[in-house]
Amino acid sequence: MTDCIRLVLGDQLSRNLASLRGLDKHQDVVLLAEVMAEATYVPHHPQKIAFLFSAMRHFAEELRADGIRVDYIRLDDPDNTGTLGGELSRAIDRHQAARAIVTFPGEWRVWQQMRAWQQDFAVPVAVKEDDRFFCPIARFRAWADGRKQVRMEFFYREMRRDHKILLTPDGQPEGGQWNFDAENRKSLPKGLKIPQPYRETPDAITNEVLALVASRFAGHFGRLDGFFYAVTAAGAERALDHFIRHCLPLFGDYQDAMAMGQETLFHSILSPYINAGLLDPRRVVEAAEQAWRQGHAPLNAVEGFIRQILGWREYVRGIYWLKMPGYADTNALNAHRPLPDFYWTGRTDMNCMAQVIGQTERLAYAHHIQRLMVTGNFALLLGVEPAQIEEWYLAVYADAYDWVELPNVHGMVMHADGGYLGSKPYAASGKYIQRMSDYCTRCRYDVKETIGPTACPFNALYWNFLMENEAKLRGNPRMGLVYKGLDAMEPARREAIRAQAGRFITGLIPAYRATGTEPS
Ligand SMILES: Cc1cc2nc3c(=O)[nH]c(=O)nc-3n(C[C@H](O)[C@H](O)[C@H](O)COP(=O)(O)OP(=O)(O)OC[C@H]3O[C@@H](n4cnc5c(N)ncnc54)[C@H](O)[C@@H]3O)c2cc1C
Ligand code: SF4
Repeated sequence: MTDCIRLVLGDQLSRNLASLRGLDKHQDVVLLAEVMAEATYVPHHPQKIAFLFSAMRHFAEELRADGIRVDYIRLDDPDNTGTLGGELSRAIDRHQAARAIVTFPGEWRVWQQMRAWQQDFAVPVAVKEDDRFFCPIARFRAWADGRKQVRMEFFYREMRRDHKILLTPDGQPEGGQWNFDAENRKSLPKGLKIPQPYRETPDAITNEVLALVASRFAGHFGRLDGFFYAVTAAGAERALDHFIRHCLPLFGDYQDAMAMGQETLFHSILSPYINAGLLDPRRVVEAAEQAWRQGHAPLNAVEGFIRQILGWREYVRGIYWLKMPGYADTNALNAHRPLPDFYWTGRTDMNCMAQVIGQTERLAYAHHIQRLMVTGNFALLLGVEPAQIEEWYLAVYADAYDWVELPNVHGMVMHADGGYLGSKPYAASGKYIQRMSDYCTRCRYDVKETIGPTACPFNALYWNFLMENEAKLRGNPRMGLVYKGLDAMEPARREAIRAQAGRFITGLIPAYRATGTEPS
């Protein structure tokens, strides 16, 4: 007879998890389950599945080494029901448990399931708040309540004050300003030494998982060879240390830069660890602040880095839980085109897209500007249906979970929430990509051209996007300048751009190509 089953999900691999607190080693059982439903609700990148299964197996080993009773269900266990609810139900029966405890999940979809468990099971199922974030959901709600605009920058300042981060003793921002982004938009100079990303060699557990994933998820987009992710809290801590030593000092300066053959630049690649619970965001922020206080990294880098975690990460989570479930269904720009096939194959002659999709296939990683200004920008300009591009982002990155992916894609990239999250769409022509990367130097298209067979597709698509969405965007004060540019354009030039974009779109999408025209 067991007092309590404590279910730990794959993204809850934290020893201080709410549902593990107060655990009785003699009376309780911790349940971890590899289930098909979670591995396939979107076709996750094989490295993401391998990372999570291996991290779960290592976590179970650590608990066992501490004398905790663990019930671990493997994907290929013959009786595995394939769902979290099915496995929790079986465990309750198997151990004759009196109750179950879970921690609040990161996805609306799983929350719906958990709510049903509270009715469905004969024993009580308690749901504990996930307090691994700086900002409790109720705190975000209170902050957002009654505000017409919920802007990240103001939320971030509150978080800095609440948690006393990068503040002077009298509560002012260190360096006299809250945000040093103006210093953080440099393109990469030639000859700059770029650090290697942190890598770990797979151990026996990871190799066993890699073999399992190779055999069961072969059809998913993404390669397994070259898997380098750490799979334990200790490994994640080493990755943090590597970042602070080698990358943080220049993180700010080159945060927006992109370069062929340099996929990670000065970024941390810590999101898979933070999101799965192997690394506490408080620990990461503390380590970065300490690096500045000890003179190891400049303030523009440290503030910029901390803002990503204390600001953006907490803010998107707040928006997700504030606005779900309706948030996912909005489509403010009425975008309905299908996602081009090359997102799943990488086969495109646009070098920027081929580079970012190719590295995503190899690493399950792309940094923020690659996601926002290359693959995201293209989907926005093309007018892809939000749900299709959201599924892609949720599937292909090792750090992707609905709570963080959805606001970033739906709100920040696709402007599908009508500007709730971001005040204007991040639409940009090829010029932005040329300024921030070397991709255009090896492309068959000419970034300086807008019309003609070799013109960069981003250029015509950009102006076409502004024309297609004129009724919705012209009134946006932050779009005034770009619409001035459009107004200055001769009508014939506008028509030529429209035709160029139309030909490109028709050629890109098989259903349109087949009929030679796009359905109206
Ligand atoms: C279209 C799109 C989709 C995204 N999908 C995800 C996702 O599924 N999961 C995810 O964790 N991040 C997502 N992001 C945010 C960001 O791109 C990644 O967190 C970042 O690229 C991870 O790499 P890194 O650890 O090297 O980040 P760094 O550049 O080193 O940043 C440090 C940390 O800040 C946090 N962070 C930075 N930007 C954001 C942001 N916009 N939202 C939330 N956290 C942020 C992450 O925890 C990250 O590890 C997305 C961004 C865009 C534009
Ligand atoms: S020319 Fe255009 S398509 Fe080619 S790499 Fe540059 S931005 Fe991308």
